[in-house]
Amino acid sequence: MEGEDKPMLGRRVVVYGGGNTAIDVARSVKRMGAEPIIVYRRTRDKAPAHDFEIEEALQEGVMVKWLSTIKQAGMGDDNRQITIEKMALDDKGFPQPTGEFETLEADSVVLALGQDVDLGLLNGVPGLEVTKDGVVKVGADLMTGHPGIFAGGDMVPAERNVTVAVGHGKKAARNIDAWLRGETYAPPPKHEVAQFEKLNPWYYADAPKTVRPMLDIIRRQSTFEEVQGGLDESNALFEARRCLSCGNCFECDNCYGVCPDNAVIKLGPGKRFQFNYDYCKGCGMCVAECPCGAIKMEAEEI
Ligand SMILES: Cc1cc2nc3c(=O)[nH]c(=O)nc-3n(C[C@H](O)[C@H](O)[C@H](O)COP(=O)(O)OP(=O)(O)OC[C@H]3O[C@@H](n4cnc5c(N)ncnc54)[C@H](O)[C@@H]3O)c2cc1C
Repeated sequence: MEGEDKPMLGRRVVVYGGGNTAIDVARSVKRMGAEPIIVYRRTRDKAPAHDFEIEEALQEGVMVKWLSTIKQAGMGDDNRQITIEKMALDDKGFPQPTGEFETLEADSVVLALGQDVDLGLLNGVPGLEVTKDGVVKVGADLMTGHPGIFAGGDMVPAERNVTVAVGHGKKAARNIDAWLRGETYAPPPKHEVAQFEKLNPWYYADAPKTVRPMLDIIRRQSTFEEVQGGLDESNALFEARRCLSCGNCFECDNCYGVCPDNAVIKLGPGKRFQFNYDYCKGCGMCVAECPCGAIKMEAEEI
């Protein structure tokens, strides 16, 4: 599309909405060589899109009409005019019509007002329940009302983002595995969170976070190249090492090294350590030297 005189949607494209879909559409339109203008009925701080996405869109030249709503489209001799009404926030912060109108030119209007899940594949499945929001009801184990059918991600009641969908995938896999064995999955108990006082921060290198590369604004406006680069393997591993791992043993071997009584037994990579209480005198060296507060001293029961 780059450099063509007549982009598919025309020159002036109005995008109606304030979520990440609206922002994505407007930024794509810009890259296709047209002029996008977002019309959104609330203020920037109330827009569901991430603020950084809005900022990047503005940097790329996307225009936004905040507190505005489309009243009418396809007007004028050439059907290219749309009327927008300005909104004002009421006492409760909700946008209300003001009766003040403005005309914009538009070759296309894209409505980016929400997403629906296509549940067509589940039609007629007995026991399956669909909520009034058009998503599938699931239990805590992510199983639907039909035994053996599990669901997650956008099609269940939850936040709609990649992180949640990936998490549901992992959780569903564990529950499916247990269900196929005729068992119920029980997550392992979580250990206590180690507060900062239990950590030994001296153990960790003082390293600033890695900065991810950003594509130049000019190149962002005309190509679909990745805007913010990811981390390469070594940077990602470095970032992971900045984690203080509060309360989670990461097998640094400090306890093993400092124990004067050889009471700490290494169980092998990923298996952490065991304590041989027949040898342990309870000196507490391992607790004092554990960087992440993963070891707790408990009074011996007599
Ligand atoms: C424009 C837009 C921008 C977004 N931006 C972000 C963002 O920046 N960050 C973020 O975290 N999230 C973002 N999201 C949301 C994110 O994409 C979703 O929350 C996430 O992809 C949900 O994952 P999912 O696996 O549930 O569904 P999907 O990723 O939609 O996967 C469902 C898959 O099932 C397939 N499928 C559907 N029906 C059938 C069938 N009958 N048979 C076989 N296969 C079928 C579909 O083709 C699809 O591949 C965005 C969404 C949109 C629409």
